[in-house]
Amino acid sequence: MSAAAISISTKPPCPISPGLEGFRRRLLRQLVRCSVTSEVDSGLKDDLVLGDPNAPRFVLWNGKLLPVPSKPTDIPFFELLSFGGKLRAGFGAIGIRPPPPGHEETVEEFVRRNLGDEVFERLIEPFCSGVYAGDPSKLSMKAAFGRVWRLEQSGGSIIGGTLKALQERNKNPKPSRDPSLPKPKGQTVGSFMKGLSMLPNAISLRLGNKVKLSWNLISIKKRDGLGYTLMYETQEGLVSVDTKTVVLTIPSYAASSLLHPLSNVAADSLSKFYYPPVAAVSISYPQEAIRRECLIDGELKGFGQLHPRSQGVETLGTIYSSSLFPNRAPPGRVLLLSYIGGSTNTVILSKKESDLVEDVDRDLRKMLINPAAKEPLVLGVRVWPRAIPQFLIGHLDHLEAARGALRKGGFEGLFLGGNYVTGVALGRCVEGAYETAEVVSNFLSKYAYS
Ligand SMILES: Cc1cc2nc3c(=O)[nH]c(=O)nc-3n(C[C@H](O)[C@H](O)[C@H](O)COP(=O)(O)OP(=O)(O)OC[C@H]3O[C@@H](n4cnc5c(N)ncnc54)[C@H](O)[C@@H]3O)c2cc1C
Repeated sequence: MSAAAISISTKPPCPISPGLEGFRRRLLRQLVRCSVTSEVDSGLKDDLVLGDPNAPRFVLWNGKLLPVPSKPTDIPFFELLSFGGKLRAGFGAIGIRPPPPGHEETVEEFVRRNLGDEVFERLIEPFCSGVYAGDPSKLSMKAAFGRVWRLEQSGGSIIGGTLKALQERNKNPKPSRDPSLPKPKGQTVGSFMKGLSMLPNAISLRLGNKVKLSWNLISIKKRDGLGYTLMYETQEGLVSVDTKTVVLTIPSYAASSLLHPLSNVAADSLSKFYYPPVAAVSISYPQEAIRRECLIDGELKGFGQLHPRSQGVETLGTIYSSSLFPNRAPPGRVLLLSYIGGSTNTVILSKKESDLVEDVDRDLRKMLINPAAKEPLVLGVRVWPRAIPQFLIGHLDHLEAARGALRKGGFEGLFLGGNYVTGVALGRCVEGAYETAEVVSNFLSKYAYS
């Protein structure tokens, strides 16, 4: 989902004074809607589809797809970890493990130290492929999985931190949930009846001509006093927009080029983030192509599967799209969405789409698909040459350096957003957009309209 380079018009829609607070609230609502909109605001509540939270997730280990525990009570019984591996994880989680080393740890270092080698190799390493298409020996634990990192910091161990967080939550309960929001029955994933693109399309429709598609931001100039002049390349030619605030939610490398004339330090810091390539391959097989041992009650059930890099397959993982969401495949067929590439396999960029399909099909025949099954139907192959920002060691320092340089350079009202700032999961991007909207609203009421 994209909310690229949202600029906020400086012209208030009504006189500011005396109803400044009312205007501030209206503006906040407008900003929130400009940035992202929940499924309720966008009118898509009835189109939202949620996966069954109890559906299993699998990890490939020694040629078999083994379920991962979906709730704490599954932990003693699941096969993916040995008894020794579970004991090591349990002791580590309560704090019987080496202390933090005093430097920024990678995900691999943190997890091996806290939870042991098996948890790292069989659960967290494939999980890093699933979220970041990343290399856990380079990702920063603090930046990539900050919530878990903070548990150890705050409570002395992962369990200690969890208990402390629960106590704090009981002391300061969250405001009650908006009853109009859909309520998932557990931890799950969601989409819309006709796919995720329904969300930006619905937001765009609702906002009407406030949304400008295919406007390419080519320069940002600071105006005398407060505000900026943005220059866009559009189908109608160059268009300039004067604005008091700018929220740049474009990828960091694009922000880096645009900010270069304003601040070398900000531009250099933002140029340090790495985006590896990833390809998404959607293919369909007849139901009978699924290996019998992978069926549950005669069907392919579950979220999908992840593949540790040690298991001799190139594909990072596969989502069982037609098992998760309705109407993704006609009766008798399954639709599988697989990801291939990432930080540890950048050669995908030099491959043809047909090679990527062959790679995924070859891998799936090793554990999910009968080796003698017919060729799959190919529904789509999409390669993102720069897919997902990697939150590597130093990520938060580089981000702070960029923000600090903008502050010191006097570029007030220019904000950085998007997935390299908030976190890469779409949900975090949405939360981050709401947070940014609040910051912009506060800025405007403090400086711009005072
Ligand atoms: C293959 C893949 C699979 C993923 N799967 C999941 C998943 O299952 N679950 C999940 O939670 N997350 C997933 N993610 C991550 C999530 O989708 C992204 O982190 C999120 O969508 C990023 O949103 P964004 O608005 O920050 O950036 P983007 O969506 O990248 O938007 C940035 C936009 O800026 C535009 N832009 C760039 N330069 C300019 C310019 N000069 N002027 C104007 N516009 C410009 C670009 O065209 C683009 O539209 C996946 C990501 C990828 C790549």
